[in-house]
Amino acid sequence: LPEEFRQALPVMEQIETAGYEAYFVGGSVRDVLLGHPIHDVDIATSAFPAEIKEIFPRTVDVGIEHGTVLVLTEDSQYEITTFRTESTYQDFRRPDQVSFVRSLEEDLKRRDFTINAFAVQDDGNVIDLFEGLADLANKTLRAVGNPHERFHEDALRMMRGLRFVSQLGFSFEEETFEAILENHALLGKISVERIFIEFTKLLLGDYRKAAIEQFVATECYQYCPGFRDKGANLLTFAALPTPAFTSEAAAWAVLLDHLGLAVEEVSPFLRQWKVSNEFRRECRELVWGIKRRKENLFTAMDLYRLQEHALTVEEVLPYYDQAGQVGVTKEALDALPIHQLSELAVNGNDLLQATGRKPGPWLKEVLSYLEQAVVEKRSENDKTTLLRLAMAYTKE
Ligand code: ATP
Ligand code: MG
Repeated sequence: LPEEFRQALPVMEQIETAGYEAYFVGGSVRDVLLGHPIHDVDIATSAFPAEIKEIFPRTVDVGIEHGTVLVLTEDSQYEITTFRTESTYQDFRRPDQVSFVRSLEEDLKRRDFTINAFAVQDDGNVIDLFEGLADLANKTLRAVGNPHERFHEDALRMMRGLRFVSQLGFSFEEETFEAILENHALLGKISVERIFIEFTKLLLGDYRKAAIEQFVATECYQYCPGFRDKGANLLTFAALPTPAFTSEAAAWAVLLDHLGLAVEEVSPFLRQWKVSNEFRRECRELVWGIKRRKENLFTAMDLYRLQEHALTVEEVLPYYDQAGQVGVTKEALDALPIHQLSELAVNGNDLLQATGRKPGPWLKEVLSYLEQAVVEKRSENDKTTLLRLAMAYTKE
């Protein structure tokens, strides 16, 4: 057992002493078997939520309607979820009803892929009801049970499958692939926020190329906002040799540029994906930077506008066709004389005093003029010098 699991053993034992079953389940088991680092340890149990709360003095109801109770121990915390089945999916996205059950098998049967449906006992024994170990060895993503039914029940599973292709480098088993192709239109029933989360994980995976190709081949892309007629663009994007993207915004910006969006189209496009204003702004700046940098090396004013985004652009751009010259570095960015307007040695008040004029639009214009002069090193960032420059400018 890996360290993260061993730390949880006292919790498992307490559940078992009370007369219930407890197992490690979910993505952490898959990742341990693959030798990947794990993030969260999930525990499944035959005990009902109220019974878990009787066993442990310190718990938090984080998702009690799905059967999840957070158990706090001295040095850690664990999500403990009661075995459950999800019955009667009417609308292709969420179960109408969650039923708690005492059977591990029932719980594992409702999981999406065989490699996500293991249970590990406290002695390290792996329970593998669906030949997931063979699928792990063959790098195969296979739906648990009948794939048509499973994607029909919950269409998000198709996007989850695609992001596992990207994160793990696995391929779909044939029937699973066919079932996704056949049911891809059901993605239209899933909220864009949930699709965004899975698709963004897909964009950041090491095996992005294969995953985007499958995203296109299964036609799932047709039911993602704004992608309908962009199959060819997505494939061009897939072919980029860029190593795994290091941020969500960088990945999206390169994608959006490949979709052929103009800078001013970025924000409206992302609005359909219901992302935050901040994320939309960041992507727009990056797309601006990418387009600009494709034409020319960054000027001092470009760097001043983009700040850290300039480095992100330099990171992704060499992988475009027109591999650029050596671009800016962190040192070049740090070496800018100023990084924001507040660092300018004069402000609006100084200008009002020096000129004796009334406030107006001229003020902003003069400040921009001085700002640019300093950024481009045509003037020292020094009050006397700048005021002299401002007087000359306003007299023109
Ligand atoms: P990650 O490592 O990214 O957390 P994960 O497989 O653990 O991947 P989670 O969303 O944390 O993904 O879900 C935990 C487990 O719950 C999954 O491994 C799977 O067994 C099950 N699961 C999650 N979402 C679904 C779903 N939509 N349908 C069926 N089972 C699911
Ligand atoms: Mg998980």
